[in-house]
Amino acid sequence: MSPQKTKDRVAWLQGPSARCEVVAASGRTPWRLVLLGAPGVGKGTQADLLNQRLGACHLSTGDVFRAAGSRSECEQSPAMKEALGYMRRGALVPDSTVWEMVRERIGCLHCGDGFILDGFPRTLGQAESLKQLMDSEGLALTAVVNYDLPASEIVARLGGRRTCEQCKAVFHVTERPPKVAGRCDRCAGNLLQREDDRPESIKVRLEAYDRSTAPLIEFYRKLGLLIQVAATGSPDGICARTLACLGPQRAEALA
Ligand code: AMP
Repeated sequence: MSPQKTKDRVAWLQGPSARCEVVAASGRTPWRLVLLGAPGVGKGTQADLLNQRLGACHLSTGDVFRAAGSRSECEQSPAMKEALGYMRRGALVPDSTVWEMVRERIGCLHCGDGFILDGFPRTLGQAESLKQLMDSEGLALTAVVNYDLPASEIVARLGGRRTCEQCKAVFHVTERPPKVAGRCDRCAGNLLQREDDRPESIKVRLEAYDRSTAPLIEFYRKLGLLIQVAATGSPDGICARTLACLGPQRAEALA
């Protein structure tokens, strides 16, 4: 697998009125993945690495909310303003708001190079809605990867995480430091700590994960799609482990 050109993701980040400039490569079987795991296990980092290796577009619902949050208040719909309030507290945004946002980006699920969903679905309701929509569109998931990490490591990872203000690339002050402190390696944008990576929000997010998102592991296990990957070690090591697990799953799905 050769490295792919990174997608610009504008259709995902800005909505259906925007068009991606990096078009899908033709003739390949697309990867359609969901990444699961508690906040801080490194799903965003893995989605970036998998995007480079597999070409599938990194679709993060959290990034859509953050992109909306960086626009002026008058450009934000009332539903989006309310969603941003939930996000700042570390709480889950209501299913109806999230679902409306995903539904209007349905074109991204049809992307010829596939997709890597990160942060969605996050509740059983969202997982069921996604399944119904994909079934009705004739689309099937290739696999669902669940990243596993002890709680103590999760807290350390979240506290040190820094995200690029512009291109949303993810770094970590000790585990994945940028070449120049505070600057993105990819686009030289400012690296910032997310509001919801502060200690009081981290606690709320981990509770929301245990209550609402952990049950998805069983949901996808029953569908025969689940792959368990230990999220310990370096990002490249975790990515290599993921790719090794995905190979047989994909062969089975294509057979
Ligand atoms: P993330 O970047 O995936 O950690 O998402 C950041 C925040 O956005 C979450 O803590 C939620 O407030 C909100 N969010 C993102 N995706 C979802 C989702 N699928 N369901 C509900 N809330 C979400």
